[in-house]
Amino acid sequence: MCGIIGYIGHREAYGILIKGLKRLEYRGYDSAGIALSNNDYRVYKCKGKVSDLEEQTKDKDIKGRIGIGHTRWATHGEPTDNNAHPHKSMNGKFVIIHNGIIENYNKLKNSLENEGYQFESETDTEVLANLIEFYYLNNRKNGKSFSPEDAVRAALNMVVGAYGLVILCEDYPDQMIAARKGSPLVIGIGKSEYFIASDATPIVEFTDSVIYLNDDDIAVLDDNGLSLRNLKNIAQTPDIHKIKLEVSEIEKNGFDHYMLKEIYEQPRAIRDTYRGRLNFNSKFLRLGGLHNVFQQLTEANRIIIIACGTSWHSGIVGEYLFEEFTRISTEVEYASEFRYRNPVINKGDIVIAISQSGETADTLAAIQLAKKAGAIVIGICNVVGSSIARETVAGVFTHAGPEIGVASTKAFTTQITVLTMMAMSIGLANKKLAKDEFTVLIDELYAIPEKIEKILTKSEKIKKIAIEISNATNSLYLGRGYLFPVALEGALKLKEISYIHAEGYPAAEMKHGPIALIDEKMPVIVLATEDKSYEKIVSNIQEVKARKGVIIAIVTEGDTTIKQMADYVIEVPKTDFALAPLLTVIPLQLLSYYIAVERGCNVDQPRNLAKSVTVE
Ligand code: GLU
Repeated sequence: MCGIIGYIGHREAYGILIKGLKRLEYRGYDSAGIALSNNDYRVYKCKGKVSDLEEQTKDKDIKGRIGIGHTRWATHGEPTDNNAHPHKSMNGKFVIIHNGIIENYNKLKNSLENEGYQFESETDTEVLANLIEFYYLNNRKNGKSFSPEDAVRAALNMVVGAYGLVILCEDYPDQMIAARKGSPLVIGIGKSEYFIASDATPIVEFTDSVIYLNDDDIAVLDDNGLSLRNLKNIAQTPDIHKIKLEVSEIEKNGFDHYMLKEIYEQPRAIRDTYRGRLNFNSKFLRLGGLHNVFQQLTEANRIIIIACGTSWHSGIVGEYLFEEFTRISTEVEYASEFRYRNPVINKGDIVIAISQSGETADTLAAIQLAKKAGAIVIGICNVVGSSIARETVAGVFTHAGPEIGVASTKAFTTQITVLTMMAMSIGLANKKLAKDEFTVLIDELYAIPEKIEKILTKSEKIKKIAIEISNATNSLYLGRGYLFPVALEGALKLKEISYIHAEGYPAAEMKHGPIALIDEKMPVIVLATEDKSYEKIVSNIQEVKARKGVIIAIVTEGDTTIKQMADYVIEVPKTDFALAPLLTVIPLQLLSYYIAVERGCNVDQPRNLAKSVTVE
């Protein structure tokens, strides 16, 4: 959450900052702001979108070859002009942008107030700006040498919390300082120029050489180049990586919204997930990223999956897959609960952390806890170079390509593809999955992208259903077995982008409460493809019909039984039970998308939300 961008070099910074902020806007859109340095520095900021900021800066002096920009997802203080970043320190020496939370900001604020500091905003960030200035001014009294970097280090040593920071100092107009703990920062290295950003999306069109800052790093960028030291003032060696990201991957390419583009990308994304790992002809499956832990995986007694949000839903699918194919006891935990619950973790337990961005703060903290307890921690994430990818001993990238729509779609299906391949390869190795069953699954998995393409051709029909039910205020999603997590995910999609209250339930649980809500205004979306509990779900549909609920059923092609009972049916091709989530979620994504569009909601930037949840 919060997007950060910085530029120092030979070009005019303004255009780079604005374009970069637009790329980062999916991380937060409560307010936007920039500071430009041209001997002095000028700050422009306002509540709202980057386009509002552009409007505000139309006739202003936007010159400067050094600048920083921020797009905010508010944690401390409402989205207002005053609370927008960048924040200046009281005496104007420093200006900073921040992603994260300063947990002890209140205590620090009180001490600064005792020193005479006054505050203009309600943010934790302004406290940090003033703390840095306090150290700077105090230590430079009587002509002592104390650099802005020294001041930043002194302040950050007092801070409890998480930050990605970029800082300018009025006295050093040719310098930019960046620091990281918990929140991501990437430095792009160009020819006599540097870019800093929360992720690589604003950088790719300028350079493919990047450094991912580590926790406790403080980087100073100026005419002398890049200096990297840590909080203890020990020099660090920058590790330069090459990124492979095309500008076209982060554009809408003719689609109305990123979410729709990403829904349609799923066949390609899933093919990329299994490319080079699964060979359909030789029935070969190998996940190179698990090589160093594979033996332990096959001998494991217990797997714990930790995740948040949509990734937690794919984690539940993972639980079913692991238990079925590997017979290893598996549990799924919300990372935020796991980390604070004093969980039982045994040495040698396998912990699988799932996160699209690889930056989810709670998941990262849970990883650290699991590592300390001696677990073998494996990551499943989309963003190469992300913190989770670097914190884990082994892992599998989903290769979904950048996901920019705040409502996750292709991340879900590609995570499930990875979990399926993991469960299949472990199951084959520990002999809990028979070779012929394994072979069938390979064929089925291989065919999934084509089957998704077929579902996508039904989008007009799904749109019509969406328009019919778009006035609902409540809805229920029901599924059993592998389709229960899909029900959860379908409900989450609808809530997120259309603001209709939706609940996902195991179908049989409906009669323990939610059935009381059903009336003729209540759409009930039932996942009813053919599987072991088909007859049971047919009975559940009857129970809803008896209470006049509106049934939208997702069924297997050729189903005739449910067609007679449901108000609407959407068919999906037949597949193995275990792979059904990959198909059945597609109509639910489209349904949510078209409902949100019909209701006039901002699909890619739903209210109160943001992507890449870097705060706890
Ligand atoms: N805590 C800061 C604020 O509220 C930054 C928020 C964030 O990173 O999401 O402005």
